[in-house]
Amino acid sequence: MADKNKRLASNIGDNFFVDSTCINCDTCRQLAPTTFVEHGDLSSVYQQPVGDDELHAAYQALIACPVGSIGAVQDDKSHMRQAVASFPSNIDLNLYYNGFNSEKSFGANSYFLQHPDGNWLIDSPRYVRHLVTAFERMGGIKYIFLTHEDDVADAGRYAKQFGATRMIHAADAEAVPGAEWVIQGVEPIDVGPEFRIIPVPGHTQGSMALLHADRYLFTGDHMAWDRDVSGLRLATVYVWNEEVLRRSTAGLLDHRFEWVLPGHGDRICLPAARMKQELHRLIARRLISERTF
Ligand code: SF4
Repeated sequence: MADKNKRLASNIGDNFFVDSTCINCDTCRQLAPTTFVEHGDLSSVYQQPVGDDELHAAYQALIACPVGSIGAVQDDKSHMRQAVASFPSNIDLNLYYNGFNSEKSFGANSYFLQHPDGNWLIDSPRYVRHLVTAFERMGGIKYIFLTHEDDVADAGRYAKQFGATRMIHAADAEAVPGAEWVIQGVEPIDVGPEFRIIPVPGHTQGSMALLHADRYLFTGDHMAWDRDVSGLRLATVYVWNEEVLRRSTAGLLDHRFEWVLPGHGDRICLPAARMKQELHRLIARRLISERTF
C-alpha cells in the first residue's frame, strides 16, 4: 500500500493518490485512464474517480500496480474486494488479463488463455494465492509461454505449482534455468492446430510472439498499440538489434491476427484487414524516419 508521506504533489484531489515509489510502468493508466495520467516521469491522479465504474477501475489499478504506489485514503473494502475478485479479468471469449503485475517484469501485463487441450499462461504475474486459486478453478496451467527474458517474473513458481511447461527461446534461456521447452531458431513453430510460436528477435535476441487461432497475437515487448499516435509501435528502448527488429516486424505480415496483446503498452483489437494496414503503416513509418535521419 502506498505511503501518504510520499504522496506526490502532482496528485489532484484527496482520496486516490500515487506516491514517489512509482516506477512509471503505465499499468494504472491502461486500467483507469480517467483517473491516472503520466506527469513527468511518474504517474499521478489527475481526476478522482466518480461512480462505480471509475472506482472499480481505480481499485483494479491499485491491485495491479507492481510496487504498491497507489493509495486510497478512504479505504473502500467492498470495492477493493470486487477489484481483487475481478482478476483474472475477461478480455474476450476465453482470454483473460491477470492483473497483479510484477515488479520483476517492470509491471508487464500477463494473460491467461483457457483451451480444451490445456490452458496457457502468457508471461507471468506476481505469484499470489488469489491467482493460484483462480487458475486452479479454471483448469490449471499446461504451458507458460515466456515472450522474452524480461517478463519471466514468477513463472517458475507457477510452473512448479501446476506442473506446467515453460517455453522460452534459446537466446533468452539464461533467464529461465531449467526451462522445460527451449525454442530454437527463427522459423515459426506450430503447437497443435491453433497455436503458433513466432520468433520476433529485435527487442531481445530471443523475443517471441504467440499466435492463437489467427486471432490473438501476444507480443511481449516487441509491439504494442500507442494511444498517443493511434497506431502500432515497436520497442523503442533496450533494443538488442534494430535491423533485426524491423525484419521480424515485416515477417508478421505473413500472419493473420485481430488482437495485439503486449506486455507493455496498450492492447488493441481491429479487423484483420485493418490490422494488416496498421502493420504496413508501422513498417512504412519506420522506413520514412530512417530516410529522414
Ligand atoms: S501502476 Fe503503479 S508503478 Fe505503474 S505507473 Fe501506475 S502508480 Fe506507477
